[in-house]
Order: sequence, then structure tokens, then C-alpha cells
Amino acid sequence: MPSQFRKVLCGTPALGCPSFPTARQLASPTAVPYNLPVSCRLVILGSGSRGNSLLVANSRARILIDMGFSQRRLAADLAAQTIDPADITALLVTHTHSDHVADSSLKFCHYNQVPLVSAAENLAVLRRRFRTIFARLDRAGLVRPLSPRGLHIDGIDVRPFELPHDAEGLTLGFHLTLGSGNGAAPLRIAAATDLGHVPPEVCRIFSATDVLVLESNHDPQLLAASGRPASLIDRISGDLGHLSNLQTAAVVAQVLADRPPGSLRHLVLAHLSQECNAPALALAELARVLAPLGSAAPALSVAAQDEHLAVALN
Ligand SMILES: [Zn+2]
Ligand SMILES: [Zn+2]
Repeated sequence: MPSQFRKVLCGTPALGCPSFPTARQLASPTAVPYNLPVSCRLVILGSGSRGNSLLVANSRARILIDMGFSQRRLAADLAAQTIDPADITALLVTHTHSDHVADSSLKFCHYNQVPLVSAAENLAVLRRRFRTIFARLDRAGLVRPLSPRGLHIDGIDVRPFELPHDAEGLTLGFHLTLGSGNGAAPLRIAAATDLGHVPPEVCRIFSATDVLVLESNHDPQLLAASGRPASLIDRISGDLGHLSNLQTAAVVAQVLADRPPGSLRHLVLAHLSQECNAPALALAELARVLAPLGSAAPALSVAAQDEHLAVALN
């Protein structure tokens, strides 16, 4: 376990996150070269309504954002990435929906002595929901309230920002900065997988990233024809639900309009609904936005539920 993370977090007061910023502009949208060590990795281990987990690593830290899988599935995922579960530096939890954190996530943290990091509001929800295993984490000193200011984990700067979504507690997106350590510009990654709409301040954060992992949840027509109860359809398509392919394409168009051509390197579409979406539909919607940009368009990928997606970072 890298020691710096423990030192930083042990010295971080439990702030209770009384005033989580809605969002903040984290950097100016500039196009700069970067040249990361080969040890830097961004892998979407899986994304969708049956579970989400994203791995970010550099030479010292291995961070998971969310773990909505069984322990057996995660163990296989990490083995495929040649990572020992005990070497995970921290599990960052975006929100309390079960496809992002579950009993298995907390058991994983306890068994492997991995710190569990989220907003204090979310930790309170998890403490109530998973009383027994959470008490064990508490006793082991593995529960770490996340300051609205974020934290630094062994060369990775982590800044949370709040997203509009209907989970109990807060829903967070994360803006991560990986230092190159070799004089080149750092790499900036923003991940936002569950949100009903994109407020302007969140759009500005998306405009200040090199890699954007963004939800493209459903096709509105498939959702309407899904046979689901009207209340559920309203919830999913509402302002606190999930982004449709159309909404995501509109946000990406705005993000690209706000920044120099070519400065967004990679766009990953995530959290696709298995029943109400298809990769081809999401890609087609985005292609309408990206095609006019030609070679200045970002690389485009779709994260899958049961396959790893490794994002090329250099
Ligand atoms: Zn959610
Ligand atoms: Zn979700």
C-alpha cells in the first residue's frame, strides 16, 4: 500500500461536506502535448446498468472509481489487468446506487484493506444500509470522507464535482489529473456516468479535460417503447435521471465549441442501457457531431458492460 495516500487522508479532517461545490472550473481549456509514463492506465472495467467500475493507475497508485460488481467478477477483472486486489490504493464511490457500490464493494475493501472514499453524505447512507460490514470498515480505519476540495493520491489529483442525479446522498463526478513527471503537461480525465442533465458549470469542467468519460444512457424511442412503467420512464428521462444519446451529443457539441480544435483527445460513451440503447445508436448520434471536425475530432469509444475498454493515453 503506497504510504503517501494514507498520510494525506489521515491528515484530512472529516469535513462532512456541508457545502459540496456544485462544480468548479478546474483548468483552462488549452491544447498542450503530454507524454505520460507507460504505467499510466485508464481502463473501464465495465459500465452499464448491471455494474460500473473504472480503473485509473500510474506508477504508484491504482484507483477504482465505483465497484458495482461481485467480488469474483472484480477479482477476474483485476487479474486480467495484472493487478493484485490488495494493491488497489482507494475505491472512490460516485453515489449510492447499487450498480456503483454494494455489499460486495465494502467486503472487497475490508478483505483487501482498501480505503473507501466518498462524500460524507454517501458514507452515512452506506453505513445505514450495510451496517455490519461498514462497522468493520470503520474499525479498520478504512472509511474516508472526501473533502469537497478533493485529495491527492500518489501523483493523481482527484477533484469531485456534484452531478444532478436521484441517488440517496450526493452524486459525484471526478476530475483526475495525472502528472507526467517528465516536464510534459499532465493528463486530465473527467468521468461522469450518472446524470440527468448537464449544468453549465459541469459543462465547463468537461471543457477542461483531455479524456471525457460521459454517460450516453438511452435512446428515447427505445425507452418509450420499452414497456416499462411510465413513472420509471419519467425517472430515467428526467432532470435527475440519465442522459439520452441526444443529450450527450448536444453536450459534446457544446464542449467542443468551447475549446480549441483537437484538444479533446478521447471521448468514451459509458453507462449504456442494455435494453434501451445499443452502441451503434450512441455512436451514430455522436458521429453527427464529430464528423464535421475531421481529424480534429476526439477518438470515440463505447464502454461495454462485460468487456474492458483500455483508453490510449499517449
Ligand atoms: Zn445512478
Ligand atoms: Zn448507474
